[in-house]
Amino acid sequence: MTEEKKTADKKNLDELDDICEECKKEDDSVSQNLIINGYKICNSCKVSKTLFPV
Ligand SMILES: [Zn+2]
Repeated sequence: MTEEKKTADKKNLDELDDICEECKKEDDSVSQNLIINGYKICNSCKVSKTLFPV
């Protein structure tokens, strides 16, 4: 009975694949930064973005 919900959740997860948009590397911090900062980036890219804002 939960199959439909599962499918919907999986579709949403396509956006949350933990792939950094800057360096294209997969990192746990990517989804955290997306939630906290709104940027889909890893911690190392976040640091360089903070130090050198584009
Ligand atoms: Zn990165």
